[in-house]
Amino acid sequence: MTTTYNRILVTAALPYANGPLHVGHLAGCYLPADIYVRWQRARKKDILFIGGSDEHGVPITIRAMKEGVSPQDIVDKYHSLIKDTFEKMSISFDVYSRTSNAVHHETAADFFKKLYDDGLFEEKESEQYYDEEKQTFLADRYIIGTCPVCDNPNAYGDQCERCGSSLSPEQLINPRSALSNNPPVKRTTKHWYFPLNEYEPWLKQWVLEEHKEWKNNVYGQCKSWLDGGLYPRAMTRDSNWGVKVPLPEAEGKVLYVWFDAPIGYISATKELTPNWADYWCKDDTKLVHFIGKDNIVFHCIIFPAMLKAHGNFVLPDNVPANEFLNLEGDKVSTSRNWAVWVNEYVNEFPGCEDVLRYYLTTIAPETKDSDFTWKGFQDANNSELVSIFGNYVNRCFVLMHKLCKGKVPPLHAEVMDDEDRNLLDEIKKTKQAIEEKLDKYQFRDALYEVIDLSRKGNQYLQKKEPWIVAKKMTDDSGQVAGGQLLIDNSLHICLQLCANLSIFINPFLPNTAKKMIHMMKVVDKMLEWENAGKEKLLSVGYSLRNPELLFRKIEDTEIETQIQKLQDAANKQQANTAPVEVKDTVQEEAVLLPLKPEIQFDDFAKLDLRVGTIISAEKVQKADKLLKLSVDLGFEVRTIVSGIALHFTPKEIVGKQVVVVANLAPRKMRGIESQGMILMAEDKSGKLRFIRPETVINTGASVN
Ligand SMILES: [Zn+2]
Repeated sequence: MTTTYNRILVTAALPYANGPLHVGHLAGCYLPADIYVRWQRARKKDILFIGGSDEHGVPITIRAMKEGVSPQDIVDKYHSLIKDTFEKMSISFDVYSRTSNAVHHETAADFFKKLYDDGLFEEKESEQYYDEEKQTFLADRYIIGTCPVCDNPNAYGDQCERCGSSLSPEQLINPRSALSNNPPVKRTTKHWYFPLNEYEPWLKQWVLEEHKEWKNNVYGQCKSWLDGGLYPRAMTRDSNWGVKVPLPEAEGKVLYVWFDAPIGYISATKELTPNWADYWCKDDTKLVHFIGKDNIVFHCIIFPAMLKAHGNFVLPDNVPANEFLNLEGDKVSTSRNWAVWVNEYVNEFPGCEDVLRYYLTTIAPETKDSDFTWKGFQDANNSELVSIFGNYVNRCFVLMHKLCKGKVPPLHAEVMDDEDRNLLDEIKKTKQAIEEKLDKYQFRDALYEVIDLSRKGNQYLQKKEPWIVAKKMTDDSGQVAGGQLLIDNSLHICLQLCANLSIFINPFLPNTAKKMIHMMKVVDKMLEWENAGKEKLLSVGYSLRNPELLFRKIEDTEIETQIQKLQDAANKQQANTAPVEVKDTVQEEAVLLPLKPEIQFDDFAKLDLRVGTIISAEKVQKADKLLKLSVDLGFEVRTIVSGIALHFTPKEIVGKQVVVVANLAPRKMRGIESQGMILMAEDKSGKLRFIRPETVINTGASVN
């Protein structure tokens, strides 16, 4: 591990080019990355900020097929929209590239070829589901069938979204293709596997021993992956959309999207500068990946192992991933249209880009999931930006024009008091606190320091009351001791504080800093970090402009409009996807599932149903939705894993009687063998209910 770095390379997750950006994306990685980069630039560090659109992968081909357009049409549309949104939000990438570029195809193919030539891949043939009508192999996500755990008829081949079980397509009952609705067939196909397991000892040393400083949420997720054991992963897929596998025998195959996407960071750097290798291949580069929590495994385990295997590249120094941002108390869902779209925000709140940057930083999900609310947004603007920061700067300028002839007044050392000196000290302390926090990727706390300093400025002004001093001077014909000297001192200090605030706020709210340096008639260079903490940024006698409004009040009606819009969009989406027969009086019937085919009594008799008693229950690690239960069946105690953790707490179900399918073949879930299944029914709100005897009976009783 190198500790002295001479250059910094910052990447932010490549957004997937199949939809617009929502506020959760911004808060998750782009905003923190931009703040970090702007701060390092102000410190004159050699730094590059790399971004781009991820344009490969199955969801794009599926979307194109559904809309009857080409995958290129889809990615062109969203790439430009996303790029434009980043520019409007002042996310200051040095390059914003895309993975459908030729330079990326070449870079990714070369990377694969190097690993192939070094003999690193394992070639394996396997049987995979194939859609004969659409003539294509089916990714797991595009096989739908009945979940073996909870009977959800629309579970995906990789996961059941109702009970949260991870599945493989083979486990689905009555699988069908999402493309044609036909049952898929099995066909043999060959793929190249990266032996991730061989890198396990090295990864354990590198992550768990050498990077204990990584954020707890990141370190913890890595640890549980590594503790769970790593396996070879297929790095190729059967598809025509993506980077072609650079081997003659690989016709119709492309690189797995998670193999090619992170290499996109390298390609984008190549596109930006001929000196790209300085940033990617020299040990004194500090590489930092900003991502959301769903990408941790790819950036902390798989991509580093690929880089290590390749051998020419530096490894990340840190991966400061954030958790998720919820919206009004509910998970953001693009399919339910429960989201605040950033491109719409910039149109509806013109000139308020910094307000969104501010609010998202103050609620950043740095250590745990957090919540965006429109009310919170309004409060942050009105009671912090307007009332504290904006108000302070405005008062200083108004008073300076009124009491000091529009010029920076001198500082008279002979009448300085402790309050003056304390406030000047606070500027230096704030600088140090911001540096310590940004170094540790604590953006929320760093921004708090800036606002807190402006709060202290307000308090100082309130104590000094230069307007009262001025009034007394007029009333008492200049009889106040020190008179103008006191006024000069307080406004001199306040204005130097304003100048410092512009430097401090610049990485967070760059448009606000720009307005401030315009008001102070100083050049951009003043915003360089080495000036922070200085007491003489503005020269005595220098005339400053009139104040302009930094932030405007956001009205209740604007917030009500946004909340209404959110609800309307979600309702409309629901109406579009709900079954067409829904009528107001028969809502329950509308969601009832169709009857399964008739069976014979013998089929039913094969089931051994028993009354069991839950004797203990605990959450399953890493699986939000699963509970591990011990169920007494009278003749033995079984371990049963059940997807009910979102419906019941372990405490409330212990002691309850339930009905268990007692002769179901055991299945492993999250490494735990589940020895049976508990019967449940789902009510119309989606809440699960146990099926159980109407009064407590003897444990182990047969159900017939
Ligand atoms: Zn399920």
